[in-house]
Amino acid sequence: MIPESFIQDVLARTDIVSLIERYVPLKKGGANYMACCPFHNEKSPSFTVSPTKQFYHCFGCGAHGTAVGFLMEYNGMSFRDAIKDLAQQAGLKVPEDDAPQQDHSQINTLLAVMERAARYFRDQLRVSPKAIAYLKQRGLTGEVAKNFGIGYAPDDWQGLHAALGADYEGAAPLEAGLVIQNDTGRRYDRFRDRVMFPILDQRGNIIGFGGRVIGEGEPKYLNSPETPLFEKGRELYGLFQARQAIRESGVVVVVEGYMDVVALAQFGFGSAVATLGTATTATHIQKLFRQSDKVVFCFDGDNAGRKAARRALEACLDQLGDDREARFLFLPPEHDPDSFIREQGLEAFHRAVHNALPLSEFLLRELRSDLNLGTAEDRSRLVYEAKTLVPKISAPVLQQQIVRMISEDVELPVEAVLAALEIKAPTQARFGNSFGNASGRKAPRQRSPRVAPTGNLRQLLRLLCAYPTLIEKLPGDILELAGDGPVRDILQSFLDIRDTDGFNPTSLAGLYEATSDEARKAILLELLQAPPPKIERDDATVQEFDGLIINLRIALNDHEFSALHQRIMQGELLNPDEMQHYKALTERKQALRSSRTGQNGA
Ligand SMILES: [Zn+2]
Repeated sequence: MIPESFIQDVLARTDIVSLIERYVPLKKGGANYMACCPFHNEKSPSFTVSPTKQFYHCFGCGAHGTAVGFLMEYNGMSFRDAIKDLAQQAGLKVPEDDAPQQDHSQINTLLAVMERAARYFRDQLRVSPKAIAYLKQRGLTGEVAKNFGIGYAPDDWQGLHAALGADYEGAAPLEAGLVIQNDTGRRYDRFRDRVMFPILDQRGNIIGFGGRVIGEGEPKYLNSPETPLFEKGRELYGLFQARQAIRESGVVVVVEGYMDVVALAQFGFGSAVATLGTATTATHIQKLFRQSDKVVFCFDGDNAGRKAARRALEACLDQLGDDREARFLFLPPEHDPDSFIREQGLEAFHRAVHNALPLSEFLLRELRSDLNLGTAEDRSRLVYEAKTLVPKISAPVLQQQIVRMISEDVELPVEAVLAALEIKAPTQARFGNSFGNASGRKAPRQRSPRVAPTGNLRQLLRLLCAYPTLIEKLPGDILELAGDGPVRDILQSFLDIRDTDGFNPTSLAGLYEATSDEARKAILLELLQAPPPKIERDDATVQEFDGLIINLRIALNDHEFSALHQRIMQGELLNPDEMQHYKALTERKQALRSSRTGQNGA
């Protein structure tokens, strides 16, 4: 867990305008900045960034969020990674990090050496007729090769020496997995006579390489080893290049090899990514669902492909939602995506993706395989097998439907199947979690707060955000006036911020990201999205503020008064203290009302 105060600190030191400007060209328009929305297709700009609120909002598609939200949505980062990224840019170190702290200067050194190696491989490709001929024979144009930064590692034991000079003997090439050192301390290049595919992280840094042999040779594909930069189970080849296409098409297709990704892009299908020689992991699936609500796994039609598909199926069950779907595309046995699109064309591949097998059907097909449902034994066996998969499904409606299909298969009532699968209550969908929310496009789920903020409290919060100096005028009884609920908590945070860093509207974004309470989050979101209240003169602002405080006092007074009044009306005898209080409330009621009249008349 990252401490809330740290999150606020990071956001306080982040400027959302310069952050977003790095990805999207912004134009000044009034108090805000405008752009064509990066999250939906549009011709005229409806995407606005507010420097005072440190918040972005699109009037076209409803996308909105803070700097953290932007990185999550645009780069598909997790909340934690987005905070880390911003912290790094702000020169802060994430405290109590349970992952081993990597020294940023070490990471930067490794990234720099990868960059130099990549440049060397690209240069080598240009002067290698053999490698060029290979890529041409695979049908790749120079443009696609350039887009993916494809290069060539020559057939040379110390080719990289030319690129790195004296640094070749340093720590970085070894730690980055570019060279191997033998027992005698002699170093040589890991990749030799291979076409080189740089593997990028979500920021576009080169964190590894995949090398493919030209012609025959073993292994056919060679990847960088695990290094401080590169963790195979987390990375997806081609994700950085595919982001735009995924966003536009609304689907991401997972294939098995980098040549498939590149070939699909060459033929016009840009939203494919590949795992890097590992089975699909839960981390992969999380990353994929952050990019798109629809993930299609594409596997070769052979036995190995089916096994890989089964693993992908198991990895995604607990990450589904009723608004998130996974499908499975099995190509004819003689094809991989590369050969398929080459032979059948783009349209045919689109159709195949569109018609991919829904997860439910693939799951049932897997369960039924090798079973003879004509026998009671095999019908029981089906339920037994289902027990390892179906209870994990995190999409409640889908789960129920699959249970119903199983109940038909095994000729038992739904309740009996549910009992056998030990599914008690319908599984909760997982998108209520505000930190893990897949996409900022959807409004966060809002539970109604325990005590709904009244109009007065809401207006008071707005006024404070628009005119932050008013916070000095908040009376001592303000928390009491705010009652019990999320608004009180928010006011408390405002006061805390006032006492530490000084209250400022830019603090809102930090508060929004730091709180995990949904009711509070909903109110903060409303404040972040609210247009400024229309009050022109300073004295009118103060008057409005004073009026609101009086209204709150009247409301509290009335509340206490009517509670006692009701008891009297029911014939109850109040004790002397209560009677005293009742009198005081009656008098204050008068005083407050006349002070409001006076205030209004002023
Ligand atoms: Zn938009």
